Amino acid sequence: MDNKKIVMDAVEKNRDLIVDVSDQTFCFAETGFHEFKTAKLYEKVLREQGFDVQMDIDGMPTAFKAVYGKGHPVIAFLAEYDALPELSQKGGCTKREPVEGDNPDGHGCGHNLLGAGTLAAAIATKAYLEESGKEGTVVLFGCPSEEKGNSKTLMARDGVFDGVDVAFTWHPADVNGVNTMSTLANVSVFFRFKGITSHAAASPDQGRSALDAAELMSVGVNYLREHITSDARVHYAYRDVGGIAPNVVQGHSCVHYFVRAPKSYQVQEILARVIDVAEGAAKMTGTEMSYELYAGLSDYIPNHVVSEVLQGAFDEIGAPDFDDKDYELARKFFYEAYTPEEVESKKAAMRKRYGQLAEVLFEKPLHSSVAPLRYNVGIQYGSSDVGDASYVMPTAWLGTATATIGTPSHTWQMTAHGTTEIAHKAMLRAGEVLALAATRFIDEPELAEKAKAELKEETGGEYICPIPKEIGPRLDE
Ligand SMILES: [Zn+2]
Repeated sequence: MDNKKIVMDAVEKNRDLIVDVSDQTFCFAETGFHEFKTAKLYEKVLREQGFDVQMDIDGMPTAFKAVYGKGHPVIAFLAEYDALPELSQKGGCTKREPVEGDNPDGHGCGHNLLGAGTLAAAIATKAYLEESGKEGTVVLFGCPSEEKGNSKTLMARDGVFDGVDVAFTWHPADVNGVNTMSTLANVSVFFRFKGITSHAAASPDQGRSALDAAELMSVGVNYLREHITSDARVHYAYRDVGGIAPNVVQGHSCVHYFVRAPKSYQVQEILARVIDVAEGAAKMTGTEMSYELYAGLSDYIPNHVVSEVLQGAFDEIGAPDFDDKDYELARKFFYEAYTPEEVESKKAAMRKRYGQLAEVLFEKPLHSSVAPLRYNVGIQYGSSDVGDASYVMPTAWLGTATATIGTPSHTWQMTAHGTTEIAHKAMLRAGEVLALAATRFIDEPELAEKAKAELKEETGGEYICPIPKEIGPRLDE
């Protein structure tokens, strides 16, 4: 069987459909847990494509599960399709220009492409199952609200991914390669202090200041920093300072903390110490402290077996085929979408990172090869709910160059790339590579067993969800 030909033909045959799903998602630009039009579109397309579709998964109306095939291996693709606030921008436009209308939001992280790329992968894997007649199941999970929620964390906790043998996802990027970098585990916690109000001048002795407690907690945590692992990140924001009157002793306060570290267990250890500090602050000020675990994410564990299969597929198919028109547009983005100072600082950063190659990239600013597979290349100092998925299923993750090199995520420039030929080509390429990797597992189901054994070795078969069972999706926030 020519796996590559089958998956590439299937993507080519459905090219217009996949691009249309991406472009429509771009126009809907719906933020987390409000992706109603987008989820409906996926439901319609997936049913038409012959998938068995279940909507409203795990208490999330915009989550879905689309299944085709039977038996093992069960191969999952993880789709995301939420937009970001305030990042509306006309597609293909190299100057800041929001889309007309009353929706200020936009796809500044390229999730319109992310979702449609996994759709391409699911359709092409289904084509391979049909053509080969082999046993196997392909599942496309619709995972809403990646940006502000953590649907995959809840899905991992609640057993939605049970029975999956191997999982794949990808992310729009400015380079082509399999991502083996871990992400930071993270918890988001609200600390609340309750004090006693009083006249700050006439009867301060009667008051107990909740604002003092919040401030002392911050001081304590800032001293704690030196004595935790140096790649941990602890940040906070005051959410309630107890009012605006200096002459009233503040009776209530709230500080919102993020505690991040390379591994989930480290986050739990640091969090316990942060809670101790909060208790200390309450004791010092005679106030009462309570805390609420709001959200959490686990670190990403790249599965080597799956990553290697994915790299093999990427090397076989190659990077997106960009042409002169794509390079011309990329040059416009590179030089015209930023101030001259920004262009110079971007160039300096690229010289440092790419050496000699940087000069070539300044002329042709699209990554047009596939990066080799490398492990232990450090940590990505961000967090993602793909981490939780990777604790319960062997997972691999790739990026394709949907944007001009040096385009940061969560910017209007990233949004602007979302409907270009550059982005479409790179999205379709991601779908083809993911599907080709999936066919390897269908051909050799024992590979999935190896991948699962590796995961078990890594985690000891244990996944402790950072979000307690009683907390559901925060649909209205
Ligand atoms: Zn993203």
